[in-house]
Amino acid sequence: MYTVIGAGLIGLATAALLQQRGHEVRVIDPDPASQASHFAAGMLAPTAEMQFEQDPLYPLMFRSAQEYPAFLELVDAPTTLIRSGTLVVAGDRADLSHLHDVLDLQQRYGAQAERLTASQARTLEPALTPGIAGAVSVPGDHQINPRALMAHLLEQVPVERRKADAVDLGPNTIVCAGLGAAEFFDLPLRPVHGDILRLHMPADPAGEPLLRRVVRGFVLDRPVYLVPRGDELVLGATSREDLQPDPLAGGVLDLLRDAARILPDIQLLGIKEVSAGARPGTPDDVPLFGRDPRTDALISTGYFRHGILLAALAARLGADQLSGVEPSPDDQALIQAMNPERFS
Ligand SMILES: Cc1cc2nc3c(=O)[nH]c(=O)nc-3n(C[C@H](O)[C@H](O)[C@H](O)COP(=O)(O)OP(=O)(O)OC[C@H]3O[C@@H](n4cnc5c(N)ncnc54)[C@H](O)[C@@H]3O)c2cc1C
Repeated sequence: MYTVIGAGLIGLATAALLQQRGHEVRVIDPDPASQASHFAAGMLAPTAEMQFEQDPLYPLMFRSAQEYPAFLELVDAPTTLIRSGTLVVAGDRADLSHLHDVLDLQQRYGAQAERLTASQARTLEPALTPGIAGAVSVPGDHQINPRALMAHLLEQVPVERRKADAVDLGPNTIVCAGLGAAEFFDLPLRPVHGDILRLHMPADPAGEPLLRRVVRGFVLDRPVYLVPRGDELVLGATSREDLQPDPLAGGVLDLLRDAARILPDIQLLGIKEVSAGARPGTPDDVPLFGRDPRTDALISTGYFRHGILLAALAARLGADQLSGVEPSPDDQALIQAMNPERFS
């Protein structure tokens, strides 16, 4: 019997894979699917989310994106990848110069991404303002609905609704408690809050949605993203370390103003939800994955901005490590990059 502490997407995905391999599993969480994974937009964006000086993170992101379709099939998910592709747009010329610097980095890593003029971008997404300075197309970055995926996984795996504590730890336990993992181990985790909105996006009279693709924007050097999914448009997300758990008025103001600069008609949409979630951040933005030397429990946390994307890889590596599957040399390198001891 394996014990999974934490029923966010990382814990649920790991438990579902263990169960799919024929193992007995129990998941412990007082309030499943209620923390970071509940608020996440659901972008699977290894290319569009590349940032400078995060080299150890890129192979993890690319590998997990590659494994996602197989993972969804293994856990029998009713929701598949939404293959919308992603456009990254620049608010002004300085933003465009930043976009092109990142494009160089993306292409150096062999990622599929190409320059578009503003009018080419508007041919793909006519609701974008003619005022954008230019864009980059990332056709391979897609999205999923994290809430729908977690609802499905919660139907598959048994959850004990209680807080886990030290007696639950041991070699057959994996701790996927997000920020809560710091209650068990001395880990350098910190909450990085993000404000995020969900808007109603009814189709127009011709049945067309306002937006089809994920659009990420840089506006006056600030990032903003728009994720269209059915009749919903997710608008996110700020990044703040002020420990304020409620959505912040100033953050919401920034998001709406920056989004309206690239997609003016967003002002016509009704607001469905305004919320804020806490990302489990680490000092180098790379997750924490490995055995705790004291209890021998497996730690799987610190997925920071990319836990939805990284869930496929985290779940497979977690299930492999617990059940004694020998890691391939490639996996060994990925695991090494996430060693929780790397800061000591
Ligand atoms: C606004 C926002 C937008 C985001 N957008 C994206 C995105 O588009 N794409 C992407 O890849 N990532 C995104 N992320 C990041 C992503 O949400 C996280 O990296 C991911 O959800 C982390 O998942 P997790 O399962 O580790 O943690 P969580 O989802 O936080 O789950 C941890 C679980 O552990 C439980 N727990 C804690 N302590 C205990 C205990 N003692 N006993 C039992 N259970 C415990 C909690 O109740 C919780 O259910 C976003 C995050 C935010 C906040």
